[in-house]
Amino acid sequence: MPELPEVETVARGVNKRVRGDRIVQVWFGNRPQTFKTPPARQAKGLAGRTILAVHRTGKHIVFELGAAAGTAGRRNQPGNTDPKQTNANQTGKPEAQWIVHLGMTGRLLVTTPDSPVAPHTHARIELSSGHELRFQDPRRFGRLEFRNLRSGAAAFEAPGAEPLTIEASEFAEIFRRRRLHIKAALLNQTLLAGVGNIYADESLFQAGIRPRRRTNRLTTAELERLRLALRQILAHAIRLGGSSVSDYVDADGERGFFQLEHCVYQRTGEPCRHCGTPIQRIELAGRGTHFCSRCQP
Ligand SMILES: [Zn+2]
Repeated sequence: MPELPEVETVARGVNKRVRGDRIVQVWFGNRPQTFKTPPARQAKGLAGRTILAVHRTGKHIVFELGAAAGTAGRRNQPGNTDPKQTNANQTGKPEAQWIVHLGMTGRLLVTTPDSPVAPHTHARIELSSGHELRFQDPRRFGRLEFRNLRSGAAAFEAPGAEPLTIEASEFAEIFRRRRLHIKAALLNQTLLAGVGNIYADESLFQAGIRPRRRTNRLTTAELERLRLALRQILAHAIRLGGSSVSDYVDADGERGFFQLEHCVYQRTGEPCRHCGTPIQRIELAGRGTHFCSRCQP
């Protein structure tokens, strides 16, 4: 399942390629699970809009969209674009959002209309630059949503706090008030947004905290070590292009390679990189949890 660094990597890659582009034609599949907003309404809402920016919020990819500047004829003439007109709308305030959640196996790819369409492609969005944006998702836990901010829809917000920017006091407050295993608390998306199994295990290892510890028993110093470890590991993983242990592929179709650097995640029985003690695996919060019994007292 893509975690924060993977989603960030995809969002940045897509932003680099489609920012300022205009949506000329939209095709959506008919699998109801995929569409949080009915596909016909989404397609109508997206057509003709300029993509102002693409960014990550929590584990979602949010397309900020400008006004639908358009005449009906343009949809049939994808090549017929005045670049000046496209650029004119780039700096405006977002009027709508297209929100993509990758789920377990979702992929967002920037390609060209003539490239072969992979199975399980649920969305194809043709852009004025000649690019085509595709959403592919074999297991269909991903979601596509359209929000028209001009007609009163609220801008998308992630449920939990953002781990890359959260302050020490807020971080401590979130965990102190609860009595969860710290591993379970890190995975709880309503507390922190976007932290999954890999980065929970890795950050607990770096902070020297046993995954079973109760959140209300952690000291201020331990919580601060954890906050900094999480931020450092997530930022590092983003720099490396995210992990690719499952089906995650970034916007270019390139695999990330953070998995080469894992210290504990899926290294059961292998020697700890710090002290040589074999890495242990337990089940916690229903998830495989990896730690070093010596480095994480
Ligand atoms: Zn160790």
